Amino acid sequence: MLDLMSKIISLSKRRGFVFQSSEIYGGFGSCYDFGPLGVEMKNNIKKAWWEEMTKKHEKIVGLDAAILMSPKVWQASGHLTAGFADELVECKKCHHRFRKDFLEKEKCPDCGGELTPPRKFNLMMKTFVGPVEDEAATTYLRAETCQGIYLNFLNVLNSSRLKIPFGIAQIGKAFRNEITPGNFIYRTREFEQMELQWFCHPQGADRFFEYWKETRMKWYLDLGIKKENLRFREVPKEELAHYAIRAVDIEYKFPFGWKEIEGVHNRGDWDLSNHSKHSGQDLKYFDEEGEENKLSSSPFAKARETKKKYFPYIIETSAGADRSFLTFLINAYCEVKGGRTKTTKAVKEEEVVLRLDKKLAPIKVAVLPLVKNKPELVKKAKEVYGLLKPHFVCQYDELGSIGRRYRRGDEIAIILAVTVDFQTLKDNTVTLRDRDTMQQIRIEISELHNIIQKILEGEKFLKFGKLIK
Ligand code: ATP
Repeated sequence: MLDLMSKIISLSKRRGFVFQSSEIYGGFGSCYDFGPLGVEMKNNIKKAWWEEMTKKHEKIVGLDAAILMSPKVWQASGHLTAGFADELVECKKCHHRFRKDFLEKEKCPDCGGELTPPRKFNLMMKTFVGPVEDEAATTYLRAETCQGIYLNFLNVLNSSRLKIPFGIAQIGKAFRNEITPGNFIYRTREFEQMELQWFCHPQGADRFFEYWKETRMKWYLDLGIKKENLRFREVPKEELAHYAIRAVDIEYKFPFGWKEIEGVHNRGDWDLSNHSKHSGQDLKYFDEEGEENKLSSSPFAKARETKKKYFPYIIETSAGADRSFLTFLINAYCEVKGGRTKTTKAVKEEEVVLRLDKKLAPIKVAVLPLVKNKPELVKKAKEVYGLLKPHFVCQYDELGSIGRRYRRGDEIAIILAVTVDFQTLKDNTVTLRDRDTMQQIRIEISELHNIIQKILEGEKFLKFGKLIK
């Protein structure tokens, strides 16, 4: 199974999804760069998440807060205190971390795995702001994006006239000096989070927790992640982060085991009450006359806000864009034996098809002249490419046999291929090929844009033309 990871890593590099950062200098500590296909796909993931949050749900607004914040934020949040400054060791196998001075043996007490050498460890990445590198100028790259949301709670409230319950969504970079990063882009030191912070009355918190937990699981399922490879994991009390009252992880079955891809947390009033204390600002919510929640859909309808002034509870859904990326890639990877493309000689070769959801595929359409040594075909194909390019992410490809080009497209999840052939020159029709079924239909160039649009929106391929045998 681990072999699958090597294949994913190799495909990522070969086709331009993900590269090792600073590769020409031998690479750099678990940082990665997203290549031409990777950036399209990652943007698509972020877009799918953003649309889910801000379009599908009511009462969720967006935010884009700065990565650098006052260092006081990290005092208030608890990130600079307690266990963070102790000597830690981490199990190389299960990644559980332990205080060195608490260990009896030189082995992981949970799984018996090998331990890293002890280090004074704070996950926060330190940096200096301004010309002098002293304590006064020290701040940190954010270790989680959510703090920027809490700091802007009042700003958003006052500027948007939202009433509780409501949510703030944000996508952005976070940095953690992980002791043992690894498994490609699963655990890195610089990564992106997609977070919703949902502010609600303490009495509604349990209900909203359930709602968001289910809603987030559905998001992965709707984007094609196989059900049998997803599960919830209730985080036991002793493992809870310092801010959490309750936490459930959404886990995916990676080739290296079941691992978290998203955390759903009930953070209670930890954040707002601590920021109130440390900043001296009153971050309580004032509820005018037990304002009734206006949302009609089920878990919301029952929420009546009665208490007048209180710290809202926060339900957080925190997903990693990079981890989702890896999850979608692994989930989509298929090897098909025995000649999907009949026109190639290498019919028995293993062919890779990346069955990414239509929304996530980096390139939607390939435009291919049947052969490249016929100038009329090339000219026509380039015309078709010019027609489609402003509307869809397209690729023009004329190198190699048509079968090989189909395969190259399948490997990077291109959803539709448009082939310009000799018949096109006579009647302005082209063939349209579907990645997953390899079915082909013949359609008019004048209808291409419209039909492609509809297929990408989910309509059935064969609705638009007769199957070419
Ligand atoms: P883990 O136990 O894997 O370290 P965590 O419980 O510390 O994760 P959270 O703080 O809940 O993670 O972060 C929420 C999400 O952010 C995670 O589910 C993951 O998708 C993403 N994330 C966290 N740390 C990393 C990292 N080092 N690299 C990539 N993604 C990360």
